[in-house]
Amino acid sequence: MKSVVIEGKDQKVRVDEIELDDLREDEVLVKMGASGVCHSDYSIVDGTIPVNYPIVLGHEGAGIVEEVGQHVTTLKPGDHVVLIYIPQCGKCFYCTTGKPNLCETTSHTRTGALPNGHVPMKRGGEPIVQMAGIGTMSEYTIVHETSAISIDPEIALDKVALVGCGVMTGVGAVINTAEVEPGSSVAVFGSGGIGLNVIQGSKMSSANTIIAVDTNPLKLEFALQFGATHTVDASEEDPVERIREITGGRGADYTFEAIGNATVMRQAFESARRAGTVAVIGIAKADEELAIPASMLVRDEKRVLGSFYGSTRQRVDLPRLLDLYQSGDLNLDGLITQRYSIDDAQQAFDDLVAGKNARGVLVFDE
Ligand SMILES: [Zn+2]
Ligand SMILES: [Zn+2]
Repeated sequence: MKSVVIEGKDQKVRVDEIELDDLREDEVLVKMGASGVCHSDYSIVDGTIPVNYPIVLGHEGAGIVEEVGQHVTTLKPGDHVVLIYIPQCGKCFYCTTGKPNLCETTSHTRTGALPNGHVPMKRGGEPIVQMAGIGTMSEYTIVHETSAISIDPEIALDKVALVGCGVMTGVGAVINTAEVEPGSSVAVFGSGGIGLNVIQGSKMSSANTIIAVDTNPLKLEFALQFGATHTVDASEEDPVERIREITGGRGADYTFEAIGNATVMRQAFESARRAGTVAVIGIAKADEELAIPASMLVRDEKRVLGSFYGSTRQRVDLPRLLDLYQSGDLNLDGLITQRYSIDDAQQAFDDLVAGKNARGVLVFDE
């Protein structure tokens, strides 16, 4: 089968022949339908997320179950599934205390091992890492049962794929992490695949003022389509000052950083009002530190929150997002601005880096 592989940091991605090991009792074989191209995939290409290369990319995908191991109880062949990049084991400390996005059985991106220790992908007989234990940029994948959730088969798989990462991460940061209140003001730094979903999550939460900040005019165009009421081109004006201006000098009630850059995180901190909430979504390089004025943290009572995977409760929230899509309250159609065949994976990454898409999606042959 074909998979998208990267051999090392800053290399081009390429499509290679990968084999799958025999299915184990707690695993599921999935024929992939679609895989989103997310900035976190590129973070493996440029080394922001450290991994053991080579690696099969992809962590935002959906497909159809072909075969299940004998101990699998939640899925059966023919089920349509969304894959989750943090498995939900249901048993660990975090799963049982309402934070399954931090599940302790997390698959090991460095080794490619599933939660059961198995590395199911091989190349030339040698084990190969699959990103987040799912490696969705592949015609087929083997995942642990806890990494797949059955969903409504009526929904096209390219739409389903998006809730696996980008949509959940963005909308979840608004609803689950920051808990944006109706009527409030929101500023979003970064209007890419995640930021656009922060914007549409804020709109769903009836935020009154939604300010999109980016340096790419095309992305600010997308932001308006997803509900932004104001746009700020940070290459032309100081976003902190502009956000204060728009919010009557006070600062925004909620600010979100959806890039992964400590300088921008500081801007998000400064543009939040007193007692405002700053939610950081973007994943910075491992050695990057965030400097914020220590006295302001206390005197202004700002709340700085990390938001990982939209603080998702995977098995509840992902099907719920798809319900919202079916009721017309969540825009997934408009997110997909380009579809690619697996052979055009490098083009998809080039377009990601150039900021051409709201979301590009690899679609696999039926
Ligand atoms: Zn992602
Ligand atoms: Zn768990």
